[in-house]
Amino acid sequence: MARDSQEMDKRQMSNELCKMSQGISDNKMEEGVMSVLQEKLYDNSSFLAAILDTVGALVLVTDRDGCVVRFNRACERLTGYVYDDVKGKVAWDILWSKEDAEAVKEIFSSLSYDKFHTTHLSDNKQANESYWVCKSGSQRLISWSYNVILDQNGYVSYLLATGIDVTQHRLVERRLDYLTHFDSLTDLPNRTLFYDRLSNALGQARRYDQMFALLFLDLDGFKYVNDTLGHDMGDLLLKKAAKKLPLCVRNSDTVAHIGGDEFVIILPMINDIRDAAIVADKILDVFTKSFQLDNHECFVGVSIGISIYPTDGDDIDTLLKNADISMYKAKDTGKNNYKFYNSDMNAKAMRRLKLENNLRRALQRSEFTLNFQPKYELSCDTIAGMETLIRWNTPQHGFVSPVEFIPVAEETGLIIPIGEWVLRKSCFYGKQWQESGHKHLIMAVNLSARQFKSYDLIKSIESILEETGYNPEQLELELTESVVMEDAESAIKVLRNIKNMGIHIAIDDFGMGYSSLSYLKRFPIDRLKIDRSFVNDITTDTDDAAIATAIIAMAHSLKLKVTAEGVETVEQLEFLRSLNCDEAQGYLFSKPLVPEKFTELLQNQKTSE
Ligand code: C2E
Ligand code: MG
Ligand code: MG
Repeated sequence: MARDSQEMDKRQMSNELCKMSQGISDNKMEEGVMSVLQEKLYDNSSFLAAILDTVGALVLVTDRDGCVVRFNRACERLTGYVYDDVKGKVAWDILWSKEDAEAVKEIFSSLSYDKFHTTHLSDNKQANESYWVCKSGSQRLISWSYNVILDQNGYVSYLLATGIDVTQHRLVERRLDYLTHFDSLTDLPNRTLFYDRLSNALGQARRYDQMFALLFLDLDGFKYVNDTLGHDMGDLLLKKAAKKLPLCVRNSDTVAHIGGDEFVIILPMINDIRDAAIVADKILDVFTKSFQLDNHECFVGVSIGISIYPTDGDDIDTLLKNADISMYKAKDTGKNNYKFYNSDMNAKAMRRLKLENNLRRALQRSEFTLNFQPKYELSCDTIAGMETLIRWNTPQHGFVSPVEFIPVAEETGLIIPIGEWVLRKSCFYGKQWQESGHKHLIMAVNLSARQFKSYDLIKSIESILEETGYNPEQLELELTESVVMEDAESAIKVLRNIKNMGIHIAIDDFGMGYSSLSYLKRFPIDRLKIDRSFVNDITTDTDDAAIATAIIAMAHSLKLKVTAEGVETVEQLEFLRSLNCDEAQGYLFSKPLVPEKFTELLQNQKTSE
């Protein structure tokens, strides 16, 4: 039913459009009007006025300064102004909308050359669309042609604008465009627009070598609602479901209704399959709430199949087919859940979900501990400080690497309490080492993106320092390049606040991001840490050696210290030493140590004091 009426609607619109475009060809009349005007404007004013008033098109004539000298009946009928209202006034000041006035003024002035050669007339004709504001305040979209009227000597004496009201035409066009691309029941993109967006997503993903996800959704129990409560309630359910889905995705994602109770979602340019799992989780969560269909309360679930480009297919049909297959798998395994096409991804998504749940309780259960890895001053081979590295040992998963759980903590916001715990605990140990005589150790603590952007960061650091009595001058915070580069201006402000407290700032994993050293000059930082990946091949790969050499030389010229991360061999160390690298950290010296072992290390080795 709905589809039939949509088709009729479209046909009617097409007819109307046809009629209108015939109307527009009236515009040709302008050529005739021009020649009459040129001959008669002075000679026979009332004769000319009579002709102009019979013309259906809008005819506006101004002198070369833009003041209105003719305003035909069609103009009066459309705007509600009479000629006397506008006579002698600058046309674009009174008739055109504020937004268009400037552009129209420019068109007029481009026409008003002192001497205008007739041979240029047709070349210089200009057409465009702009809005007129009527006396009532309403706006009409007019399609315009502009031209000039010359005197006997070939000088420009008048400027002519002829126009057709295309407001209705545009509305119909827009409606037609809407009906071609959107589903009139749910207002979501329809199958046509969905294919369009999908092929765009595919093109983009191929070009940038990125992943994207396709989610195929089917409502569980839709048929039951349709059969028991009737089709109207079925339609209402689809409408309500269609309103909820876009709330689970970003604006740049596409949610489409491709028929029956089937919806599809495109998540372009994802970084990780987790992004697709997060959206699927949100959708399942939203569908746990009931739908109110008039006075019936209904619970409807959703089964979701997910395919990922490029792993599950590199063309539209395969990706769609595989998302569809996975949706059926989700239905087969108890409905109201999601399934990736690739079974490894299912396992990964499950692990992430479990990790997230366990991470929520890890702080209360005291499952985190800290390790400290010493950093060595290369000029005197002594311990200059240490980096704090968090460790998570769970009863369920055993030891989980921070590389895996820190991103989950970031996404869930749990990084804020976890990060505070790390800083407090680090300062607590740091204070003890200082009190036992190791006063000059600088302790480095990693700060994640979300912590850095958190509104409370400065207050939280201040209160932890106060609480533990740790000297801010002995603290260094490590941030990655991407964190400070993302919003450089506000990052500079936060960094200044941190520096003002006396705390040092290091850029971690340097070389992995895209920042240029000259740009970094603007940041109030003290140190760069060359990423382990460069250090690893520094003695075998000439490119890595060149990069490390350049980083150290340029950092020094900017008065920054350099720490090399992940030094594992004597050869690497000697190479770094030859480049005058300031500090090194890595398994060659020591793995990250539990606090007791770090205390022993301090006792057994001379420090930089
Ligand atoms: P990072 O800050 O770059 O830390 C250095 C990583 O390199 C640590 O891994 C360390 O154990 C490892 N490493 C040090 N020397 C060597 C070496 O010679 N060879 C090799 N192969 N590896 C070495 P870890 O502890 O697994 O931490 C990984 C990342 O997790 C850290 O990279 C940091 O980004 C993050 N992280 C660790 N603890 C925290 C924390 O408390 N807060 C935040 N926000 N992030 C943390
Ligand atoms: Mg670090
Ligand atoms: Mg690092």
